[in-house]
Amino acid sequence: MPLEQYRRKRRFGVTPEPRGKPAPRKSSRARKLAFVIQKHRATALHYDFRLEWKGVMLSWAVPRGPSLDPADKRMAMPTEDHPIEYNKFEGVIPEGEYGGGTVMIWDRGTWTPVDPDVDAALAKGEVKFRLDGEKLRGEWVLVRMGKRRGETRNPWLLIKHRDETASKRNIADEEPRSVVSDRLLVEIARDEGGNMEKAADGDPPALLRKMLANPRLVKPPKKSGKKAVWHSNREPRRRAGS
Ligand code: MN
Repeated sequence: MPLEQYRRKRRFGVTPEPRGKPAPRKSSRARKLAFVIQKHRATALHYDFRLEWKGVMLSWAVPRGPSLDPADKRMAMPTEDHPIEYNKFEGVIPEGEYGGGTVMIWDRGTWTPVDPDVDAALAKGEVKFRLDGEKLRGEWVLVRMGKRRGETRNPWLLIKHRDETASKRNIADEEPRSVVSDRLLVEIARDEGGNMEKAADGDPPALLRKMLANPRLVKPPKKSGKKAVWHSNREPRRRAGS
């Protein structure tokens, strides 16, 4: 049953993540397929790379995040399918829960498979696609590797194809903010009652140093009201002196 594994891992009375339901299958020709990358400071920092397919988000955890350099092969460990509503989730998963920590919507957009037979490409372990996101564009490939000793799942590699969108620049460091709220991980943790110190560990240290030197660079706390993103229902932690 779709999303069974996703639901088994989570307590929906405790975590603000959506319970989700599988969306009706739509053919890839009918409309654009969504992709999302969520930067997630859990036990360790990683980027959750998700591609919409057959009503769910196929998911891989990429510890070092995507690279625009075709010479880089980024490890991508397959994780459980996620509901499509998850694409809107930015906030804090309570500590002690599965994936506890801060989640940021780092990039989003649409993807187009190069070979329209995505099921065959997945079975073969080589999926070529085009991304049209706010940060990531152009052609990419996900390649399944052989299983290593002691591992239960096959690791995959996420690799940029050589095209006009390839580059040597470090996009993870140069564009560290949410494409939805323009916040850093530490600012999301502050606004949603998360662990700021742990979240800040996933933000670029040079940028944090600049903000400490000039506190005016820190975004004011998000006001409640019309919420563009999915929030934890918990009250934001009170700040010292307020
Ligand atoms: Mn994750």
